[in-house]
Amino acid sequence: MQVTFWGAVGTVTGAMFELRMNGSRFLLDCGLYQGHRREAQERNTHFPFPVGALTGVVLSHAHIDHSGNLPTLVKNGYLGPIYATPATADLCKVMLLDSAHLHEKDAAFLNKRRQRRKALLPEAEDGPVQPLYTTDDAEATIPLFRPAPMHTPTELDGDLYYESSEAGHILGSSAITLVHQTGQKKVRLAFSGDVGRPNLPIVRDPEKLPPVDYLIMESTYGGRLHKDVGTVTAKLANVVNRTCRRGGKLIVPSFAVGRTQQLVLLLHELNDAGQIPGIPIFVDSPLAVEATEVFRRHPECFDDETRQFLLEGKDPFGFARLRYVRSVEESKALNDLHGPLVIISAAGMCEAGRILHHLRNNIEDPRNTILITGFQAENTLGRKLVDKLPEVPIFGELMRLRAEVETLNELSGHADQRELLEWMKPVAGGLKKLFLVHGEPAQTQALAEAVRERYGLEAVIPTRGQSFELD
Ligand SMILES: [Zn+2]
Repeated sequence: MQVTFWGAVGTVTGAMFELRMNGSRFLLDCGLYQGHRREAQERNTHFPFPVGALTGVVLSHAHIDHSGNLPTLVKNGYLGPIYATPATADLCKVMLLDSAHLHEKDAAFLNKRRQRRKALLPEAEDGPVQPLYTTDDAEATIPLFRPAPMHTPTELDGDLYYESSEAGHILGSSAITLVHQTGQKKVRLAFSGDVGRPNLPIVRDPEKLPPVDYLIMESTYGGRLHKDVGTVTAKLANVVNRTCRRGGKLIVPSFAVGRTQQLVLLLHELNDAGQIPGIPIFVDSPLAVEATEVFRRHPECFDDETRQFLLEGKDPFGFARLRYVRSVEESKALNDLHGPLVIISAAGMCEAGRILHHLRNNIEDPRNTILITGFQAENTLGRKLVDKLPEVPIFGELMRLRAEVETLNELSGHADQRELLEWMKPVAGGLKKLFLVHGEPAQTQALAEAVRERYGLEAVIPTRGQSFELD
């Protein structure tokens, strides 16, 4: 078996690894590469292997940096199977359509801008920008999914099987173990996908891997130590109560899939325990509304606490104080409401979506609070808020940041250094090679050093296009 690293090397986006054996080719993940526009467009449009030669794709989880380039594969003629857990397959239906819609909107915006420029400089621009893929491409991808439950050995190709186990990262997220058997010889390779953390709301804790010879492991927070998840409830209660006392609004930018559902459950628990006042709470994001429906359909992915909630006849994703907002009119009507109230809206890094309107309407009022609940990449509006810049641009206009900004990093969906080391412990002794991927160079390097110190193992940090023989 041979593995080639095509994405998520030296970066956290665009996860894609190619496996070759006996004339068959498989992909592990097919993520969207995110970076500077031109480079991203080039990288996402052209696959570095013949798409027609692919036998199958195995997907670790639904996040766009792992699944988001599947429609381009299909656009290029791929008609083979896409293996994933049932919850991942269902989440992908919602997320890939949403992603296609964003690509179409993005292309339309660029074309409009080009047209305006062309009126001034007729020779300046070339042809119209095409979206990376369209809603039709995303729709053509959906029927290719082959849902397979976790812990079920699934045949990929003659001698090659895979089995998924809980990664504890988002609903349906899995680590993938592949076994290639030829005669008496067995080669076992595991891919971590994204490793979650113990005690996160809703999802189960990451499971132990079966023994393997080779491991491809993520390193997003390979050099960091997170705060304990246990403190998150008290911190959330504090920020709600503080904002309520001021009569303000709590504006929560949140990733529509995963983080929003966790926040809803935490607020529900706080409400039931009487630790926050009975104020109105709105989830204003059509994607979050649809993703929540997928969560409801997959209780098999829930942890014991969430199952207990269900057994008590309670709905983890809804309660009397909570309203899901779908239509634009309803969303606009939120502007006229007076605090105290909570609005949870996407996108999580404040780069697009309805959250921008809520920030514009509330950022200059010191009674309000902006609660940041996830990782904010450099140069995003979310990052500027975390850094508490005195003025931030919203819709091209500089606005004064007068609202309080609070951050809640405890809900991070990625294991930190200690948790990654702990997760790989059962297999560390038997590894022939450990590949570290999916991290900024400093994080990956820090993890490699920690692995060397703890397990005496020399990790490989592959570069893009590098291949390794696994035998
Ligand atoms: Zn992920």
